[in-house]
This record gives sequence, structure tokens and C-alpha cells, in this order.
Amino acid sequence: MTTALGAGSTSPISIHADRAAGRLDIEWGDGHQTSFDTTTLRWLCPCAFCRGEAGLPGWLDSGPTLSSEQTRLVDVALVGGYAIAPTWGDGHHTGYYTFESLRHHCPCPTCTKFERAYVHHLVRSGEILSAMLMTQHNLWFYQQLMQGLRDAITETRLTAFAAVFLSRYRRLRTP
Ligand SMILES: [Zn+2]
Ligand SMILES: [Zn+2]
Repeated sequence: MTTALGAGSTSPISIHADRAAGRLDIEWGDGHQTSFDTTTLRWLCPCAFCRGEAGLPGWLDSGPTLSSEQTRLVDVALVGGYAIAPTWGDGHHTGYYTFESLRHHCPCPTCTKFERAYVHHLVRSGEILSAMLMTQHNLWFYQQLMQGLRDAITETRLTAFAAVFLSRYRRLRTP
């Protein structure tokens, strides 16, 4: 999370809300691409109700179970050229996500540079962030896997791809 950001890194070139797929895709001035699934985005809501204020915890800090309406992206409005304000399926719309914070929370593996020990600590102490990081990692893993499968099918080497994947996966699972 301490990535040094260059010019244009917090200036979006395009912001695309894919409501059907439940994603928000941002392309930044430095060429970086950020893709949030809407559940992750909802958990990042910075508003006073969700995050708390004056040192008091907010609603999201209590670890609620979010309904599908609460993570359904209905609309995204631009706010003063520095932030976006999503409207959610439950009507919530008071969270202003600044471009800076969106880039800061970019969930891609390059930007998410948490130490393994720190993540382990988060998991052990049941922090919400640990569930977010695990989900992000799992989604990333599946995206990589699906991309690999698509490429393998296109290039008619699916059998070889599957053999390599399975041998690696089984080795990892052996104690
Ligand atoms: Zn909120
Ligand atoms: Zn990133």
C-alpha cells in the first residue's frame, strides 16, 4: 500500500461501471488499470455512517452481512472532478470515493503489497480486511486461471495446460 505513484496515477482516463458484471473499471493516466468488484467497493465506502466518525466505529466496522441489494451498483456520479459517488441498490449514496483513495485501494496484486505475516495476523484476528484480501486474491486467481484456460483452448493445448496445473496444484496440497 506504499506504492509510489507517478504523474497521472490518480487521474482517471475512463471510469466504466459494468452493472451486469458487478464491476467498476478505472483506467488511470499512468496506464494502470484498476478493477473493483462491487462488493469490495461497497466495503470501502468512506461515508460517516459506514466508517464512523469522531473515533466511533461505523456500520461497516460492525462486520454486517451485506445483502445483494447493498452491493448492487445502480449508478455512479462524478463529484467535482476529484471523486465518484456510487448509488447502491439499498439507496445508499453518501460515500464520496476520491480518485486518490480508489487508486490507493487498487486491489490488483501489484498494488496490494501486504506482508504475508500481516495477512496471517488479519486472518487470525478475524479482521474484515482479511476476508477482503482473501476474496481479492481468490478472484485474481480465478481470473488468471480462466485467462490461461481461454488461451490454452485458443491455442489447442488444453490437455497440456491442465496437466501442468493439476500437478502443481496437487503438489501444493500435499503436506
Ligand atoms: Zn457509506
Ligand atoms: Zn493496481
